[in-house]
Amino acid sequence: MELWYTENHTENVKFSIKVDRQLMTMQSEFQRIDIFESNEFGRILTLDGYLMVTEKDEYIYHEMITHVPMATNPDIKNVLVVGGGDGGTVRELCRYSTIEKIDLVEIDRMVVDACREYLPSLACSLDDKRVTIHYEDGMRFVRNAPDNKYDLIIVDSTDPFGVGEGLFTKEFYGNCCRSLTEEGILVNQHESTFYDSYANSMKRAHSRIKDFFSTALVYQAHIPTYPSGHWLFGFASKKYDPRADLNAEWWNSLGLVTKYYNTILHKGCFAIPNNVRNTLRETYK
Ligand code: SAM
Repeated sequence: MELWYTENHTENVKFSIKVDRQLMTMQSEFQRIDIFESNEFGRILTLDGYLMVTEKDEYIYHEMITHVPMATNPDIKNVLVVGGGDGGTVRELCRYSTIEKIDLVEIDRMVVDACREYLPSLACSLDDKRVTIHYEDGMRFVRNAPDNKYDLIIVDSTDPFGVGEGLFTKEFYGNCCRSLTEEGILVNQHESTFYDSYANSMKRAHSRIKDFFSTALVYQAHIPTYPSGHWLFGFASKKYDPRADLNAEWWNSLGLVTKYYNTILHKGCFAIPNNVRNTLRETYK
């Protein structure tokens, strides 16, 4: 008998991965948490049936959401990660000795516990002494965050519905802007424009971010297991243009070994195709 994990990318498009076995399933206060073992993609974390990370391609997402801002501003010391309970983003951040403090705000403790047990290659840095985990709603956390505290905020959230919905609102982005320093950078997982449902939420999120930041761009990566495979990230800042302000020489001097990100791709990933530009035309200059 074959066992398959399937995610509906739209009502008419299904994405399936053959799985060997289900390693765990539990219902938290916020969502259903499942972890599968597969031959092709290794272990897979899903939340409410939506694919979050796989062992095989998670490095693409976590390298791109972290190294693009880090290579733009070498002086980043104080970081906030909202969501990110699998630990992959924190793992990449902890590779920088220049970072002094990381606040991880994850609403669901059960996600962290499950990833510590079943996805140790992602959760391996959650006990780094610079990391503080706050188990609460990221929207409430930034509402109460002091002004000018963070050099970088990374929003590594689920999709803009359910428990993650609040992380795509004007209030949330406004509070992120307030709690960032004058050199602050906001990076967020920014869905895709390929399918209408995702495109509409991304258009709304992008125009909200534009209201607070003088620079608000999107960049792209190829992530095979995400809807359409063409995934976007938002880059917003009060001071930096990530293309012009890239510190390639500094970043390369760190000797960080990556499987996807490099400082050539850093510039290229902001050259987005017309179908994305057209979708964002009214907000993306
Ligand atoms: N890389 C994945 C993606 O792009 O979909 C995201 C991975 S991470 C598992 C997403 C995390 O965001 C989940 O653990 C979820 O519990 C958390 N999350 C969702 N809404 C949240 C909120 N309002 N506050 C804090 N964490 C939240």
